[in-house]
Amino acid sequence: THFGFHDVPENKKESLVGNVFSSVAGKYDIMNDAMSMGIHRLWKDHFIRQMAPLPGTKLLDMAGGSGDIAERFLNYTKTKHNDNTSSVHLVDINPDMLNEGKKRFSTSEFLSAGQIKFDLGNAENLDFIPDNTYDTYSIAFGIRNCTHVDKVVKEAYRVLKPGGRFMCLEFSKVDTPIISEIYDTFSFKVIPEIGQLIANDREAYLYLVESIRKFPSQEQFAEIIRDAGFTTINSGYENLTFGVAAIHSGYKL
Ligand code: SAM
Repeated sequence: THFGFHDVPENKKESLVGNVFSSVAGKYDIMNDAMSMGIHRLWKDHFIRQMAPLPGTKLLDMAGGSGDIAERFLNYTKTKHNDNTSSVHLVDINPDMLNEGKKRFSTSEFLSAGQIKFDLGNAENLDFIPDNTYDTYSIAFGIRNCTHVDKVVKEAYRVLKPGGRFMCLEFSKVDTPIISEIYDTFSFKVIPEIGQLIANDREAYLYLVESIRKFPSQEQFAEIIRDAGFTTINSGYENLTFGVAAIHSGYKL
């Protein structure tokens, strides 16, 4: 059935996620715009403004895929601080998505200046990265695809420097009943249709909708972040667009 992804055993989830992202990689950016009606751009811009990176920031952009966050980060530090000492380490589990990111930067001054590098890797196990390496860790629309969210957050804690900050942008739970109904219709009826039309892949987009449903609530996720050792300010999250998305943040103190 269309809802079959529900019952996928955990050990199959990684390869399934791999297939989904391989199948959508080339259409990824246009799909994002179609599904979010362009709003994901505003969320990402807001995410970087909240990050407010200072000159020289070393960012680990986990599940960085398309390079969207990396590019915004580097543009921000350049235009805001005239800074060319900040850098991004972009890591993604999927080679096709990683290639989309590489393509984006192939003719960029940021690449020739050594401000960005790429690696294949699993957010749950970053053995190739030493402890206390980064000032900031970002993960945008990536963590809900991971099998063990708690492991991801613990690895983030390990690779961040003391004083470093974890930041996550992710779909979340809508907090307004009427909006919630509209959102459900959009998710289960409209998004799979758009997926079929643009990427010829209804299943992949239904999987994305399902994965949003299954992801912990704002409060539950904030608790996972604190359990990993992070200190949060107030609730530890900010809702965007009625909670359609949320930014979670914590400090390694
Ligand atoms: N951060 C980008 C953005 O905001 O446009 C890409 C988001 S895309 C929806 C999700 C990405 O997460 C995909 O590129 C996928 O390959 C990656 N991903 C899924 N599971 C992962 C894991 N366990 N470790 C690292 N990356 C993962």
